[in-house]
Amino acid sequence: MSAAPEFQPVLDGIVAALSELRGTEGQVASYIPALARIDARHFGMALVTADGQEAQAGDGAMPFSIQSISKVFTLTLAMQHLGEALWERIGREPSGSAFNSLVQLEFEQGRPRNPFINAGAIAVADRLVSLFGGGAKAELLALMTALAGEPVAFDEEVAASEAATGFRNLALANFMKSFGKLDNPVEQVLDLYFHQCALRMSCLQLARAAAYLSRDGHHPLWAGRAVCTERQTRRINALMLTCGTYDAAGEFAYRIGLPCKSGVGGGIVAVVPDRLTLAVWAPALDATGNSALGRQALEMFVARTGLSVF
Ligand code: GLN
Repeated sequence: MSAAPEFQPVLDGIVAALSELRGTEGQVASYIPALARIDARHFGMALVTADGQEAQAGDGAMPFSIQSISKVFTLTLAMQHLGEALWERIGREPSGSAFNSLVQLEFEQGRPRNPFINAGAIAVADRLVSLFGGGAKAELLALMTALAGEPVAFDEEVAASEAATGFRNLALANFMKSFGKLDNPVEQVLDLYFHQCALRMSCLQLARAAAYLSRDGHHPLWAGRAVCTERQTRRINALMLTCGTYDAAGEFAYRIGLPCKSGVGGGIVAVVPDRLTLAVWAPALDATGNSALGRQALEMFVARTGLSVF
């Protein structure tokens, strides 16, 4: 990978322009101590172009808890192995509700509306446990390491806290199980889910890991072998655009116009198909659970570069 002379000044400019706003809007996630103690003033960006150039600015190389961004990668892993069969258990409609909402599950008989709300990601985790058994966490780590081009690890403190406080996720999983929609023990499925949330990666590693989404399924570090097919890649991007930022997806599409996936650690990954992947990190979240400053940074990136799918 080489430097990206075209985009380095763009990232530097955005980090400088928004620097004064760091930590002024929104709240750092406080449901577990390991996230609550993160300094709200962190702010990083990174991008990887489709031809393998990289740029990063601010805290772009500092690892953080990727949380729900991991849902993109577990979905990719499940799609690699299951193809269309995956969709028997999971829908593809935006939820219009909070990421951890229970209400729609009852109407839909335990079938989550999409793979990016918690219920959907737990259903994906169940499929992965069926595929890989006790090796599912290792399989995910191997994928993330291969995609990031360097070792990626779980933050075991975060994983343990997720488990200790994950009452709502436990409720979601048990509710799906009651409809016969999870095949594996709830504890085993949630152990994978809590660990995927606890992956620690930097913006640069995330932009690199997601690079296949801007290259029709081909990763710059995977000579010859595709991560997923062109069709699957299009579909993952479509799901990110419509469901990747929960009930703010409409506003994200309107203001940013890119497939995005956010996490409560304050990270957001965005894809400009055929051009680049971009990751931002600013820990303070707005009321929808998306990074407040990250959202502004993405909007500024699109305004300054004109890159959008629309
Ligand atoms: N660990 C969080 C949860 O399960 C992840 C949610 C998120 O990042 N939106 O509630």
